[in-house]
Amino acid sequence: MDQLVLSFAQRAARGESIPVQERLKVPAQPMPVQDPESRIHTMSEVALGYSEQEARLESLRCLGCPTAPCVAHCPVAVDIPRFIAQIQRARYREALQIITQTNALPAICGRVCPQEKQCQCACTVGIALKDPAHAVGIGRLERFVADWEREHPEAVPEQRAPCEKSEKTSGKKVAVIGSGPAGLTVAADCARAGHAVTVFEALPYPGGVLQYGIPEFRLPKQIVDAELERLRTYGVVIKTDTLIGRTFTVAELQRTFDALFIGTGAGLPQFLNIAGEDLVGVCSANEYLTRVNLMKAGRGGDTPLFYSKVVTVIGGGNVAMDAARVARRLRADVHIIYRRTRAEMPARAEEIAHAEEEGITIHFLRTPLQIIGTDHGRVSGLQLQRLRLGAADSSGRRSPVPESGQTDFFACDTVIVALGNHPNPLLARTVSALNTDSRGAIIVDQDQVTSIPFVFAGGDSVHGAATVILAMGEGRKAAAAITQRFAASP
Ligand code: FAD
Ligand code: SF4
Ligand code: SF4
Repeated sequence: MDQLVLSFAQRAARGESIPVQERLKVPAQPMPVQDPESRIHTMSEVALGYSEQEARLESLRCLGCPTAPCVAHCPVAVDIPRFIAQIQRARYREALQIITQTNALPAICGRVCPQEKQCQCACTVGIALKDPAHAVGIGRLERFVADWEREHPEAVPEQRAPCEKSEKTSGKKVAVIGSGPAGLTVAADCARAGHAVTVFEALPYPGGVLQYGIPEFRLPKQIVDAELERLRTYGVVIKTDTLIGRTFTVAELQRTFDALFIGTGAGLPQFLNIAGEDLVGVCSANEYLTRVNLMKAGRGGDTPLFYSKVVTVIGGGNVAMDAARVARRLRADVHIIYRRTRAEMPARAEEIAHAEEEGITIHFLRTPLQIIGTDHGRVSGLQLQRLRLGAADSSGRRSPVPESGQTDFFACDTVIVALGNHPNPLLARTVSALNTDSRGAIIVDQDQVTSIPFVFAGGDSVHGAATVILAMGEGRKAAAAITQRFAASP
């Protein structure tokens, strides 16, 4: 064990408090990653996770602030200083118990939460060192304890159930529609409150975007499966291949269940609406990622895949980065076309850096005017408009403005459109009493209640494409409101 960890641990054991100035000298522990040369040939995870020593060192950087500003910036209010204090004492199971009191999917959040914009952005250490990159690695530590528990079943008595299922039953039944992070969180919290929960999922595998959207090299499917297994230990029943609105109607579920939660996500991709979008070789990032992640295209799966030579991905968010990095692993030369500059890119800085390390080129201040095809109706390239930044728009970002007469031809054989998604319209269309806005997003009150009593909603189906942890935060709110209403009308 590192001398620094040893001396801190011995001093802590003697009850000695370690001065802040000393703690601030502990260097931030970088996340070990696979090197870019080898990782582009495999779908295996890029970030390798902390060793025990790295996790202990990183945990020592936490000052245990009594006001815990980091907690206020976590949508599910994980008790961050308390779980990190357990890592400092090498009590990892206890650390996980603290996290899972409010977070049903720690191994997933530790990997995919945009921590730099959530808990870590408020970290006192990052602020004291005047560098957000030096905030305590809260997500990395969360991932460490969840992985440690999975890898050390012998250390966890009573079959890995750090948050046991409730002993009491309420006699109430809850149906959850959609098994993404919003639905799974409602399911976990309702089961722990003693309600009988059934989750209905349209696809053959549960998990929502965690399963079909986020690629294996960022979130291995065995991690998603392990977290789902934990939920099953709470007594949650998951029924896949069940499309609500077709297999069963909402009215049918209302007759059997006391409350419904709609967590159907935002699976309706947006397109460019330009000439050539109907050519062979144009697809949405959703379709591309689903084929590769869920249906294992290119890896002996049950859907064909065209091995592209040159792929262009349109967009600058995390979905664009994921699609580009998947295409790179399928041996294509990959180019991202983004209409603003690097400073305005919505993708996480880490994802952009990983994409560039893997040999993906980003072309800034360009937008497609049309997609050009061959005589056989296949994509052969893009006509791109050059842009410059003008005045700021309502989002505060500077808007791109065309540079007159400045267009280029860019040769490619595949175009992946990653411009964002709107909520899934199917279910709402089958329920006339369910109020939605102009984008098809379900309208809810502050308790996630829809226009129909005892029908709740949350996650991307309510606010459009956002983040895993925001969907989970709304899931927690809905579960609490369901339990409160059951108590008020037994
Ligand atoms: P979803 O995860 O979309 O789940 C909805 C589920 O409902 C789906 O499984 C769907 O099949 C099912 N469903 C839909 N209609 C029906 C029906 N009628 N009957 C039954 N089931 C139905 N967020 C992050 O925080 N970090 C990231 O790194 C990140 N990367 C992303 C990468 C990609 C490629 C994508 C697409 C999104 C990413 N996001 C990321 C966003 C994040 O995944 C979503 O915000 C989150 O999954 C929303 O959760 P949800 O439960 O609302 O919906
Ligand atoms: Fe620890 Fe940072 Fe939270 Fe303070 S703000 S308790 S240093 S993680
Ligand atoms: Fe931070 Fe996400 Fe963990 Fe909350 S769940 S503490 S936002 S990494």
